[in-house]
Amino acid sequence: MKIAGARVLVTGGGSGIGRFLVERLAAESAEVGVLELNEERCAELNEASGGRIRAWSCDVTDAAAVDAALESLFATGFEPDVLINNAGIIHSEPLVNMLSRGERVHSRESWRRVISTDLDSVFFVTSRVVDRMLAKRKKGVVISISSISANGNPGQSAYAAAKAGVNALTCTWAKELGGMGLRFVAIAPGFIDTPSTREALSEAALARLQQHIPLRRLGDLESIYLAARHAIENDYLTGTVLEVDGGLVI
Ligand code: NAP
Repeated sequence: MKIAGARVLVTGGGSGIGRFLVERLAAESAEVGVLELNEERCAELNEASGGRIRAWSCDVTDAAAVDAALESLFATGFEPDVLINNAGIIHSEPLVNMLSRGERVHSRESWRRVISTDLDSVFFVTSRVVDRMLAKRKKGVVISISSISANGNPGQSAYAAAKAGVNALTCTWAKELGGMGLRFVAIAPGFIDTPSTREALSEAALARLQQHIPLRRLGDLESIYLAARHAIENDYLTGTVLEVDGGLVI
């Protein structure tokens, strides 16, 4: 599929990786729709884009809100050719915190919040968008931003489980819907230089981490865009997880 002229829907397009993808895709003449939690960021995107980007405020963990936002998006004539499931939260917490004097066990509330944001949302949005793609006989592409944590990462039970779920859905849907011409690709970034990464890790931890990355540096946002572009343009790619991690998982 060509990017120019494609209609691309991005969840969590208000900041970080999502925001970069939205701006790069719009610059390549895609028409971009955004589902984003933060209303101010939606207004900012709508004002700055001269009509090429249309942002809807929506909590993607809320199935009814997703359905309503997608209905109003479809009603404007925006029929997605590509969906990028990007909205997500990164969360680290040990299964049992041996040093805690209070509750030692991983909070159930944070487990639910992470699974809901990083996995439920992918199911809610993709199921509705794929139904629409099928109704419109589109040979669409669904890209989901996963993480190398899906391979198992100490201190990230909920996040790793959610992203492993995203990879499993990508393979399942590729097998289930490939016959209809739909493609599903996951992108698993390693550590990308975003505000969320810098908030999560101290300077010292970042320096230590970079010694373990074969390319000895964090990834840049362009590397994720290039993977997304490959997923959109290469029509023989489906059911795969593209690891963009400077070699960290090898
Ligand atoms: P980010 O800067 O925090 O961006 C996440 C975006 O998702 C924000 O715009 C956020 O909106 C939105 N969002 C969060 N919860 C939402 C909800 N319930 N409904 C709608 N939108 C919601 O994080 P990022 O680093 O760019 O991460 C983007 C994706 O890449 C995530 O799936 C993350 O797991 C994955 N990833 C990132 C890295 C990395 O190194 N950064 C590595 C591996 C994977 P608000 O700001 O309004 O909350």
